[in-house]
Amino acid sequence: EQSSASNFLQQIISDDLAAGRNEGRVQTRFPPEPNGYLHIGHAKSICVNFGLAEQFGGQCNLRFDDTNPEKEEQEYIDAIQEDVRWLGFQWSGEVRYASSYFEQFYQWALHLIREGDAYVCDLSPEQASEYRGWATKPGKESPYRQRSVEENLALFEKMRAGEFAEGACVLRAKIDMASPNMNLRDPILYRIRKESHHQTGDAWCIYPSYDFAHGQEDAIEGVTHSICTLEFQDHRPLYDWFLEHLPVPNRPRQYEFARLNLNYTVTSKRKLKRLVDEGVVAGWDDPRMPTISGMRRRGYTPAALRKFCDMIGTNRSDGVVDMGMLEFALREDLNDTAARAMCVLRPLKVVITNMGVDAVEMVSAPVHPNNGEMGARSIPFTAELYIDEEDFTEDTSLSRKKFKRLVLGDYVRLRSAYVIRADEVVRDETGVILEVRASLVPGTVGENPPEEIRPRGVIHWVSATEGKPARVRLYDRLFNHEAPDRGDQDFMEHLNPHSLEVIENCWVEPSVASAAPETRFQFEREGYFCIDRYESSPDALVINRTIGLKDTWDR
Ligand code: ATP
Ligand code: MG
Ligand code: MG
Repeated sequence: EQSSASNFLQQIISDDLAAGRNEGRVQTRFPPEPNGYLHIGHAKSICVNFGLAEQFGGQCNLRFDDTNPEKEEQEYIDAIQEDVRWLGFQWSGEVRYASSYFEQFYQWALHLIREGDAYVCDLSPEQASEYRGWATKPGKESPYRQRSVEENLALFEKMRAGEFAEGACVLRAKIDMASPNMNLRDPILYRIRKESHHQTGDAWCIYPSYDFAHGQEDAIEGVTHSICTLEFQDHRPLYDWFLEHLPVPNRPRQYEFARLNLNYTVTSKRKLKRLVDEGVVAGWDDPRMPTISGMRRRGYTPAALRKFCDMIGTNRSDGVVDMGMLEFALREDLNDTAARAMCVLRPLKVVITNMGVDAVEMVSAPVHPNNGEMGARSIPFTAELYIDEEDFTEDTSLSRKKFKRLVLGDYVRLRSAYVIRADEVVRDETGVILEVRASLVPGTVGENPPEEIRPRGVIHWVSATEGKPARVRLYDRLFNHEAPDRGDQDFMEHLNPHSLEVIENCWVEPSVASAAPETRFQFEREGYFCIDRYESSPDALVINRTIGLKDTWDR
């Protein structure tokens, strides 16, 4: 089958297949907790889990690890499914919920009690943590550890029946209070939480811990390779302990890889939630957020995210990936796939004096310079045009090399259209330039001008009468610090005050106005942009800048 293993997980799976383990099955899962939107780190986990299943002809489940009712919401469940699909993956069968196994977990807890492997403990959280000790100090056994099986069964049933207050007691595994691995010092299996659950309603008032649930979920679903991030490495002995002490139908194995950390941002749902809750961004899918839905809205493509996840590799050593790599993957993909168009961000009117006032002349340009299959677009050229105010100067002393744009008295080419000359500037009474009057050089569409005319460069333009106005949002990085959450300061101190600039009266080619939401463009000389998914309409265009053409971030 698969011989090309480029990372350790691929190697493990191909060895397992070669040795005939798991009856030749490969089954992974992506197990988000529905307590927030997915971020770029989750994209990595999705690519790893779904990618391995794809590569080895296996299956990947989407499972909501919903054992914490208070922080979970249906909105997150919906958003997570949408994100996984958008990235281009399909889970096997129905979506799974850890909560649908609650009855089974309860039965397994009873099993542990009957075997003398679990007990109800009444220590307060403070006492319990004191008893637990710390890494170099063995813990002390709880005074409740010696309760009889009958007493434990009766107490645990009462816990389930809601007869105790929250925090009154917990169910713990009886393992080893002296273990050097803190996770094995009689970990908690169940807590009392008098909280409605988004899936099970009020059926339960006790909820399993992550550790008591995760491996058993994997076992129930027939997961063969349970892949998680390195912080769970110390939980693996516990993961295995449960599987060894319970009559589970399958024996999954846990493997860990390094989390993806990206500089100039934060990847923690808790911190991202703060940005949303404190109104720093417009929502989880604000185009500045490192969430999958935010990046989508910004104009990222699934291919760019998958390519990035591939480029950074999958390994076992923690590191920080440069945001520049993500942006590189994005530019590469957009350069190949985005339609070209023209947009004037800061309009300056140019009036062509040697052309009919009402004339509309169509000029043609390729949708993509290197991909003829994307076809051609036709662009209306009219006597009233807009160019960018930064593309014009009256300063005739600027050399041709320094200023390759339009200078009073000199020539420039309008992209895909005529060579023009700026003849005169019209101002209002306060001196502000109202328009530049110019003349076109006849016969220069797609043709060189006569030899004595040397245009300084090529600039973009949009017809002032046939083009459409647009609101353009220029997004930049949300943080101006390389490691916003790794210093002494609160990460909120490192917000980039210039992460959003809204420009109201930009002008775009008519073809842009009729494009579907989420269509991505390269606006010539300006960068990559996309039509906002939600807020744009053909008569009130809202366009997001995805990223500039070049990496100009000042490090
Ligand atoms: P957060 O700290 O942002 O809440 P989490 O790990 O608690 O993240 P989960 O919903 O439990 O979020 O994550 C689902 C899966 O995604 C887990 O298997 C987790 O290991 C993985 N994952 C989360 N963050 C990253 C990351 N930065 N890099 C790689 N995988 C990640
Ligand atoms: Mg988690
Ligand atoms: Mg978390």
